[in-house]
Amino acid sequence: MTHYDAIIIGAGMSGLGAGIRLAMFDKKVVVLERHYVWGGLNSFYQYQGHQFDVGLHAMTNYAPRGAKGLPLTRLLKQLRIRWDELDLHEQGHSAVSWPGEKLKFSNDFELLRSEVARAFPSQADGFDALTQAVRDYNELDLNAPTLNAREIVESHISDPVLADMIFCPLMYYGSARENDMDWDQFVVMFKSIFFEGFARPQAGVRHILKLLIDRYRKAGGELRLKAGVAKILTEGNRSVGVELDNGETLTADTVLSSAGLVETTKMVGATLASPASHSSLSGDASIAPTGKLSFTETINVLNKPARELGIEETIIFFNNNERFNYAQPTDLCDTSSGVICMPGNFNLPEQPNDHLIRITNIANFDKWNAVDRGVGFQPAEVMRAPCPQSRSEAPTSPYQAAKQHWYTRSCDDVLAHIPEFRAHTTLTDMFTPRTIRHYTGHEGGAVYGSPIKKRTGESGLEGLYIIGTDQGFLGIIGAMLSGISMANRWVLQRDNAAVEA
Ligand SMILES: Cc1cc2nc3c(=O)[nH]c(=O)nc-3n(C[C@H](O)[C@H](O)[C@H](O)COP(=O)(O)OP(=O)(O)OC[C@H]3O[C@@H](n4cnc5c(N)ncnc54)[C@H](O)[C@@H]3O)c2cc1C
Repeated sequence: MTHYDAIIIGAGMSGLGAGIRLAMFDKKVVVLERHYVWGGLNSFYQYQGHQFDVGLHAMTNYAPRGAKGLPLTRLLKQLRIRWDELDLHEQGHSAVSWPGEKLKFSNDFELLRSEVARAFPSQADGFDALTQAVRDYNELDLNAPTLNAREIVESHISDPVLADMIFCPLMYYGSARENDMDWDQFVVMFKSIFFEGFARPQAGVRHILKLLIDRYRKAGGELRLKAGVAKILTEGNRSVGVELDNGETLTADTVLSSAGLVETTKMVGATLASPASHSSLSGDASIAPTGKLSFTETINVLNKPARELGIEETIIFFNNNERFNYAQPTDLCDTSSGVICMPGNFNLPEQPNDHLIRITNIANFDKWNAVDRGVGFQPAEVMRAPCPQSRSEAPTSPYQAAKQHWYTRSCDDVLAHIPEFRAHTTLTDMFTPRTIRHYTGHEGGAVYGSPIKKRTGESGLEGLYIIGTDQGFLGIIGAMLSGISMANRWVLQRDNAAVEA
């Protein structure tokens, strides 16, 4: 039986970040991934000769070359990646768009500040005070008490429209809670989106993934694909290894799991005790609820760049209602708010091969899961089957009919914010909460995991630690930093390795 210093469950961003860090310090480490491809939520696929990113709209946490003390800088230092290896290109500008009001923002925070002063002059001082509170807060203090962001934001901002407009991007890009956020999560997201901003590599997420995989293998790490973990093995109150789907057993001193808190608990086969849970939710924090927030994503390939249709923004966070409702819808989707991403509107050196408009909406996993997918359905169809709206093909199953219906609703509801684009669409695709569950294993297709986060990583079992989404650091950079910091804390520092700060 093979014994490892560390087993990492999941080859998403957090698993790869942790794996590189441990391999760099000569730990015997294996990353186990259930799928045939790495990347987790942030993967990519090919369809009809086009290459699509699954997760990446934008890399948050942009830091210019040479910037000091920012999350991206820390990440690059820890993984020994040079800044220019990431091939990052900044956004032009983005916007939060409401009926009758739009706030532009870019990687220069002053743009947002001036937009708030223009559109909400009576709120300008309050916005500055909120900004200062965000700057002053140390979101890296893993033992800080949890506070509700709504209360703090509303103590500075009295106009509910402005408060909602601030929350919208932060929630869409990183909240597992409905209609509120933990204050530390709010601070992380505010800094990563409004202070630091958006960028992306020319080639999208596959460029980042290739860099990570190369670095991991070069450092001597082992990656096993199609190696799902069925069980986490325990002796007393300690994890001792894992059993794979095929019955194979591997042992390890430490297991780091990026599968999610609910999912990891199931692999242990018991409710984990919760010595260091960190949550604003009342009740027994050891019983983590499945997250309720999942999404659909509609991908439109256009026959010309979005800019030629008059769309200047890189990303638009929109809402069509009086108040923004970030909550699980009662229907399959809520298309009245969402995110519109134009990847070609980053300041890229070359126009990408595909001109895309991507639209994200909140969706209800249980409703999508209940839709009949028809005879002979293959899981890959969830991802690959085109949404036939643009070519008036008849739907082949209730599932396809639902996609077609919600594709149309999704496109209709963005027209208050961008011009009609469908006449220029040559191919469409749509993925649903089912797709997210299938490719990541996240219960309920919950992109941001459980609303309960384990900020210290402790699971309740010695030797088993939570990394990634349910440790509480989200997004590409957040997830990688989570993997790195948990590997440092629970393996390298424990073993007294010379860990750089
Ligand atoms: C549509 C969409 C758009 C997004 N856009 C952005 C964006 O623009 N910018 C951004 O920064 N972030 C974005 N995100 C979020 C970002 O992708 C995630 O926060 C991040 O990738 C999470 O990484 P992770 O390692 O924590 O988890 P995951 O990516 O979920 O990785 C977990 C991995 O574990 C594997 N796994 C699970 N269970 C097992 C098991 N039992 N055995 C073996 N393997 C297992 C899964 O297959 C998966 O590969 C987006 C996400 C989605 C879905």
